[in-house]
Amino acid sequence: MAAGASLTDARSAELYRRAVRVLPGGVNSPVRAMRAIGRDPLFVQRAHGAELIDVDGNRYVDYVCSWGPLIHGHAHPEILAAIADAAAAGTTFGAPTAGEVELAEEVARRVPSVEMLRMTSSGTEAAMSAIRLARAATGREKLLKFAGAYHGHVDGLLAQAGSGLATQALPSSPGVPAAATANTLIVDWNDAEGVRAATAEHEFAAILCEPYPANMGLVPPAESFLELLRERADATGALLVFDEVISGFRLAAGGAQELTGVTPDLTIMGKVIGGGLPAAAYGGPRSLMELVAPAGAVYQAGTLSGNPLAVAAGLATLRMLDDAAYAHLAARTERLAAGLREAAGDRPVQVVTAPGLLTVFFSAEPVRDYAGAQACDLEGHAAWCRALLARGVYPPPSQFEAWFPSLAHDHEHLERTFDAAAAAFAEVL
Ligand SMILES: *Cc1c(COP(=O)(O)O)cnc(C)c1O
Repeated sequence: MAAGASLTDARSAELYRRAVRVLPGGVNSPVRAMRAIGRDPLFVQRAHGAELIDVDGNRYVDYVCSWGPLIHGHAHPEILAAIADAAAAGTTFGAPTAGEVELAEEVARRVPSVEMLRMTSSGTEAAMSAIRLARAATGREKLLKFAGAYHGHVDGLLAQAGSGLATQALPSSPGVPAAATANTLIVDWNDAEGVRAATAEHEFAAILCEPYPANMGLVPPAESFLELLRERADATGALLVFDEVISGFRLAAGGAQELTGVTPDLTIMGKVIGGGLPAAAYGGPRSLMELVAPAGAVYQAGTLSGNPLAVAAGLATLRMLDDAAYAHLAARTERLAAGLREAAGDRPVQVVTAPGLLTVFFSAEPVRDYAGAQACDLEGHAAWCRALLARGVYPPPSQFEAWFPSLAHDHEHLERTFDAAAAAFAEVL
């Protein structure tokens, strides 16, 4: 078999035996455990570009890329150098640095709706804080969110959330008080009537969405659906909040709002903005952001927010993302999709893309919403993922996630992927 064939996973198995004794499920974030595809996790030794090497020496073409931050691939020399330079000057100060100003200016230049931003350490915190701000600004408490959308693990948004929760089919999570989600209303994604009815009945602080949802698999917005959200927010006095933690700086320099031309009031950012280190942010017009402390009264803080290493990695990442890079990533994604469709042949499979994102749904029908994603052949998908891993291709190990092709995925990586995909399809479907 080709490079990457899992000849042995003895070292991963041994680490996993130790891990489950000291880490819940053996991991620090659920999807890494690979339970959705019915196998044990692989422990990573190192990675470079588009390739990941596990502790047993097996090589994989990596389509997880840390779930989105690594748009330039693993261990990019310019990003590593930026981190090393920053680290040499001290790792954290708890006082402002020039890099934070430069990163905020860089984001504002790319995303015109973001005049100001506040950095956090995770997308979860950014979502939590954006909601606090929306509630403070509107004097309202209710939120509209979409089934299958994931906005991190904050209590109030763990209602019909996607990502790891979709995988585990938990309606929400034990430990989340009913009161925390009582103000969260759920509508199906792409359900225009549902949005009209909910916004007619309730006064929302925010309509919150992933403009290109990628945590129930990738399910792009239907024609004029985002425009409807903008229109209903304006008509009812709600803020429109785009969670661009995945789509931001990936679909285009200015994210989904640039690609679609629909402008939100607040934007939640993460993943790419930290260049592989922990960083995220929320931002919007000065009139809203100056409500945040200490400019305003809405309290929000963080010991490591705007961390110098993360800022340096984020700046290095963004500065390499010019128009040519976005054109290249979009073309690579389409080439990947075309090859996967060819490998699938006439099997009941939908390959869905946006620039830099892709999902292979095991479904005869196009997937429009969370119910459609849940109706996929999850067993077939799981078997296909296991067969890909055995052939040196590392897909996101869940039907409810997106593939993250990077600028490091070259022609040869794609050809290896197509060969593995064809063989895997032949084995399982
Ligand atoms: C990953 C993700 C988050 C949460 O970010 P963390 O850094 O994992 O807390 C929020 N929203 C979306 C859309 C995401 O994909």
